[in-house]
Amino acid sequence: MKITMIGAGYVGLVSGACFSEYGFAVTCVDLDAAKIAKLKRGEVTIYESGLSELIASNIEAGRLRFSDDVTAAVTDSDVIMLAVGTPSRRGDGEADLTYVYAAARQIAPHLKQGAVVVTKSTVVPGTNRQIRRVIAEARPSLDFSVASNPEFLREGAAVDDFMRPNRVIIGVHDERGERVMRALYRPLSLREAPLVVTTLENAELIKYAANSFLAMKVTFANELADLCEEIGADVQVVAHGIGLDNRIGSKFLHPGPGFGGSCFPKDTRAFVAAGKRFGAPQRLIETTVEVNERRIGQMVGKILGALGTPTGKTVAVLGLAFKPNTDDMREAPSLGIISALQEAGVAIRAHDPAAMPHARQLLDNVAWCENPYEAAEGADAVVIVTEWNIYRGLDLDRLKTAMRGRSVVDLRNIYKPDEMAAAGFVYSSVGRPARISEANFARAKGQVS
Ligand code: NAD
Repeated sequence: MKITMIGAGYVGLVSGACFSEYGFAVTCVDLDAAKIAKLKRGEVTIYESGLSELIASNIEAGRLRFSDDVTAAVTDSDVIMLAVGTPSRRGDGEADLTYVYAAARQIAPHLKQGAVVVTKSTVVPGTNRQIRRVIAEARPSLDFSVASNPEFLREGAAVDDFMRPNRVIIGVHDERGERVMRALYRPLSLREAPLVVTTLENAELIKYAANSFLAMKVTFANELADLCEEIGADVQVVAHGIGLDNRIGSKFLHPGPGFGGSCFPKDTRAFVAAGKRFGAPQRLIETTVEVNERRIGQMVGKILGALGTPTGKTVAVLGLAFKPNTDDMREAPSLGIISALQEAGVAIRAHDPAAMPHARQLLDNVAWCENPYEAAEGADAVVIVTEWNIYRGLDLDRLKTAMRGRSVVDLRNIYKPDEMAAAGFVYSSVGRPARISEANFARAKGQVS
């Protein structure tokens, strides 16, 4: 079976490489000629563990190729997958489906009889039916199918997630679509990954509902952390106690600077917009979006609190990517935090193991550093924004010697308050007060009695 992947971005590249690893002949095409040229030279365009090896071995085996010639690639393909971006539309938060429909119109003239067009992009309910209409209008005599196959890979663990998914969601409208999609995922049957085969609309909605639910869980942990700070409780302990209930689970209950990245912010906004449009408001997610948008300001307040007067102060920011093990800077909390600190007159020194090349294009007046200790040189405060492993075991004496001040603001709770205090730092984190304030404790008692 021959597959053409339209869009060689995060999802297109990872899933294209993984389908070629399953043994299919895959061609990844992209509008971005520079991206395709790089991939052809063997340069992998995203930072993702195991991906470069996978791509190299499948190019070598002749199963994976890159092209900017959509016509040639689509003409002899059995399956055409759309993995183009669906960003937020300015103003109303709806998913901007321009790229999806443009890709559908672009492939339509070249589709062969019996082709199956699969949407991997995250799209709102109704989009796959509209893709069907767009292609049918362009090619009234073409016999083709459409399928929805939303992608659930997590950046930072993308190859592994694709190869060992919790589940595969497939939306179809006909028997051929189902047969072809089952064949595509047959290599996973030994791993017993559940296949949910359903309608197009159900598949589309599953993706949005899953991301919205996870974003809501993160936001719950963040508001719980706020309450813990007020009453002198430890959110790590409280979240652990909650998460042990297997109806709740421990994942995504970690407080921090709010969710960011290429998916949760735009998908929650699109879910809210779809709820309004369909007359079924999604109020929990509306609140999730609002609370998350306020989160950066709260974190900035915490950092400014640690600095005292901001003017003339220097902050070392450790971690820029929206999460560890990726170089993706889309809607990364670091961006809002750094800009707000700069506006307050703070000088920024920054380090990230992978995302600095992207971050340099998005941020001005930052001193880019080779390692966390260089970033800490002369800093009044060190702020941990992304929990990369290399920040988990910092040489605290070296860090302290490099710094001018003593403040560490740990927005990911990767250190323990007592250990940091013993090491001579003025430490603050999220939902874990450095010490239980008597006033707060009394207040909390007053409220419960
Ligand atoms: P991306 O921006 O990294 O990649 C999209 C690519 O498509 C770009 O390289 C762009 O040049 C290309 N493109 C756009 N129109 C094209 C066309 N007509 N022909 C050829 N190429 C075209 O985006 P992404 O992060 O891979 O996300 C793609 C979709 O997958 C989105 O809907 C996203 O919500 C969803 N998704 C992303 C992730 C993730 O972790 N990044 C996970 C699950 C789902």
